[in-house]
Amino acid sequence: MSSRVPVSLRETFNTQRANPRNQALLFNIGVIRNIVFVYFILRWSSKAARQLRGYGIIGTIVIFYNYLRSTAYGIILRAPGVKGKVKAQLDEATAKLEEKMVVRDPNLVRHLALPKNGISADKIREELAKLADLKHTNWESGQVSGAVYHGGKELLDLQTDCMRLFSVSNPLHPDVFPGVRKMEAEVVAMVLSMFNAPPGGAGVTTSGGTESILMACLSARNKAYVEKGVTEPEIIIPKTAHAAFDKAGYYFKMKVHHVEIDPNTYKVDLKRVAKLINYNTVLLVGSAPNFPHGIIDDIQGLSRLALRKKIPLHVDACLGSFIVPFLEKAGFKSEPFDFRLKGVTSISCDTHKYGFAPKGNSTLIYRNSQLRAYQYYINTHWTGGIYASPNLSGSRPGSLIAGCYASMISMGENGYISSAHAIVSCAQRLATGITENLSPDLFVMGEPLVSVVAFTSKTIDIYDLADELSKLGWHLNALQDPPAVHMACTTLTIKSVETLLKDLGEVLVMVKARGKGAAKGDTAALYGVAGSVPNRSVVGSLATAFIDTLFKA
Ligand SMILES: *Cc1c(COP(=O)(O)O)cnc(C)c1O
Repeated sequence: MSSRVPVSLRETFNTQRANPRNQALLFNIGVIRNIVFVYFILRWSSKAARQLRGYGIIGTIVIFYNYLRSTAYGIILRAPGVKGKVKAQLDEATAKLEEKMVVRDPNLVRHLALPKNGISADKIREELAKLADLKHTNWESGQVSGAVYHGGKELLDLQTDCMRLFSVSNPLHPDVFPGVRKMEAEVVAMVLSMFNAPPGGAGVTTSGGTESILMACLSARNKAYVEKGVTEPEIIIPKTAHAAFDKAGYYFKMKVHHVEIDPNTYKVDLKRVAKLINYNTVLLVGSAPNFPHGIIDDIQGLSRLALRKKIPLHVDACLGSFIVPFLEKAGFKSEPFDFRLKGVTSISCDTHKYGFAPKGNSTLIYRNSQLRAYQYYINTHWTGGIYASPNLSGSRPGSLIAGCYASMISMGENGYISSAHAIVSCAQRLATGITENLSPDLFVMGEPLVSVVAFTSKTIDIYDLADELSKLGWHLNALQDPPAVHMACTTLTIKSVETLLKDLGEVLVMVKARGKGAAKGDTAALYGVAGSVPNRSVVGSLATAFIDTLFKA
C-alpha cells in the first residue's frame, strides 16, 4: 500500500486544477468566502453607522476616549507595585467595613451550625427582640431618606395580623390557596385602575421594583424577538433611570443606551433618545419620577416617539407608586404619565413604597394581556410536570400579598390622597426652604413635583455636607454624575422637615468655613475617589467586599 501524505485543502486544489469539477467547487468556495466577507463588512459598518448616528461624531470620540482612558488606567492598576498597594488599601477598607457592620456583641448568641436541639420559643422571642433593638440609624425619628415609608403602628399591626393568616400560603398553588389568588388578582386590578388602564389591561405582582423592571424588559425583548426576529436587543433609558434597567441588560443580554438629561429640566433629552432608536430597539423608558432627582421625564414626548416608531414604552412609577397617581386630587401640579398616553405600554408601581405594603411587594401592569404573556415562563416538557410561572420566582409568599391587599383596602383612595398631600407638602417645604434660605450655596435640581428633593452645590463639596449631616443622625442618599444628595420624604419625615432645614443651614456654615482641604468623611472619600478616577474597578472591588461583609456570620 502506498502511504498517503496528508495535504492541505489548498494544495489538493492546486494540484488538481485541471479537473473541471474541482474548478467549480473552487469557484463556489470563492463566492461563499466573498459573501461571508461582505456580510461581515456590512454588519460591522451598519453597527458603526448606528453608533455614529446615535451618539454623533464627537459623542463617539468621547466614548472611545473614555474607553481608552479606563483601559489604560486598568492596566496601571494591575501593574506590579501598584497592584500590591491597591490590595493593601482595599483590605484596610474591607476591615473597616466589617468592624462597622458586623456586630459581635457578647450578649448575642451566634449560630454557626444548627443548634443540636431546638431552642424554646421563649428564648427565641427574647433573642429576636434583642436583634430588633440593635443600635441602628434611627428611621423612627424621620431622619432617613426613603427606606420606611409609613411605619404607623396601627397599619403595621393590621399587616402582621393579615400576614399571619396566610403565612403558609403560596400563590404557586391556587387550588390550595384560593384566597391568595383572589387577593393578588384584585391588587393588580386596583393598580390598573389607578393608572387608567384601558379595558383589557393586565398585570402581575412581583417581589419588588427590580423584579417588575426586569420583567418589563424581558417582555419587551421577547416581543421583539417573536414579532420582528430581533436577536441583538437594545433598550434606551434616561441616565437617571433606576439601575434595575442595567441589571436587566446584564441578565438578559441587552445593550443599554444611557441618554443624557437636559441640564435645566433634568428630564431625559428626547432628541438624543430619537437618534438612538434603530431596528434593534425593543424598549424606551421614562421615569415618573426618577430616583436620583425625583423628576418626571417628558412621558408625553416619549409616548409620541414610541407611537411613531412603534416601540413599547415602559414608565417606571416604582417610586411614584401611590403618590404620582393622586397628585392632582391632592391639590398639586402634575404631568401626564399613565395609560391615557397611548404610547405607554407598561408601568411598574411599587406597592411597598408609597403603597405602604410590607417589603417584597410591587406590581407591573401592561396595556394588554399579550404583552404580559411575553414575560411568562412556560415549560411543557419538564419531568416534574407541566410548569408555568408568571415571573422570576417559583414559590412566592402569599402572606406578603395578604399584607399588601390589607394595606391597600385599609388606606383606600382618600387615605392615599391625604398621605400624598402630606408627603408632597413636606418635599415642597424642603425645596422652598433650600431655595429661599440656603441659595446660592445649595440649589434644588429641576422642579420636583413628587416626594424626592435633590440638591447640590457649586461652592462646597456636597458630600462633606452629607457626612456632617450624618453625624447629626440624618441619612440622605448620595448621588453622582453630578455629585448631589437627595431626601426622599415619607410619612415619617413630615415631622422633621423644619429640623432638617435648620441642620442644613448650620452644617452649611460649618463646611463653608472649613474649606475644601479638610479631612474627608466616608461619603466624601468614597465618592471623591469614584468621581476622580477613569476606571472604577477599585470602587467595584469595594462594593463586592461590602456584599461579602453582609454574609459574615
Ligand atoms: C425603588 C425604585 C425602584 C425599584 O427598587 P426596589 O428596591 O427593587 O423595589 C425602581 N425605580 C425607582 C425609580 C425606584 O425609586
